[in-house]
Amino acid sequence: MNKINLQFDNRSAALGTKHKKETVIAPLFAKELNIKIKVPQNLDTDNFGTFTLDKKRPGNQKETVLLKARTAMKMLNLDIGIASEGVFGPHPAVPFGVVNTEIVVFIDNNLNLEIFGGHTEKVNYAQSITAFNLDEVLEFANRINFPKQAIVIKSSEKKYSDMVKGLVNKEELITTASIYLKKYKSIWLETDFRAHVNQSRMKNIELATKNLIENIKRQCPNCYSPGFYRIDPKLGLPCQQCGRPTSCILYDVYECSKCQYTADIIYPNKDQVADPRYCDYCNP
Ligand SMILES: [Zn+2]
Ligand SMILES: [Zn+2]
Repeated sequence: MNKINLQFDNRSAALGTKHKKETVIAPLFAKELNIKIKVPQNLDTDNFGTFTLDKKRPGNQKETVLLKARTAMKMLNLDIGIASEGVFGPHPAVPFGVVNTEIVVFIDNNLNLEIFGGHTEKVNYAQSITAFNLDEVLEFANRINFPKQAIVIKSSEKKYSDMVKGLVNKEELITTASIYLKKYKSIWLETDFRAHVNQSRMKNIELATKNLIENIKRQCPNCYSPGFYRIDPKLGLPCQQCGRPTSCILYDVYECSKCQYTADIIYPNKDQVADPRYCDYCNP
């Protein structure tokens, strides 16, 4: 067993979740680092903010995920804590596109570590609709891959008081929508983003956890601590044909989460030149 695995072998970690994230996170930590995941019974992570906005986040994504992990550690009196947090935001390149970014944090009070992992993925389902009748409700359900993807119903977009979350049953959807339509004339439907009723988010949390474990296992060449991770790709790999810089990666920058030592890894994808089809000059 290598040195990094030895530091975590057979230890227990507190996972701050109430939305069944342990189903994807626990097997990965067990297999890769032999860390046992424990979930505190009465941690209501909704207090750290909800996607339906009836509860606001206490801080940004990183502050919130750290707070969740630390709260779980305190509740179980463990010195390792893990938590994840997801956000949805505008796609950097696609107009009206949406991306889901999941981050997962690993805290170890014994070794004084705070290591992050993450995954970002384009969201390819519709998110919300105002419906005036049952046909529109069912059409929306079809489009978002219901019941694999749960639905939230409320009276209107900005009203947070009267809502039903986690609808995953067609009859229940029809009954609830009918009651709300009678009461409000038009109703607001949105996809439920909570992990246990959203398969695409669960997949992204799993990929973020894999990224986190890779980061934990990568040792810093300066202080030998776990948690040497990629912070920044630098673009500009030269075009094979004309030698001009392209948008392909020239080198990656890695940073130690503990001593802040950084190193550039040149040609991370092995190639020293880029295919001319990635060149703005040769292939505009
Ligand atoms: Zn270091
Ligand atoms: Zn070129």
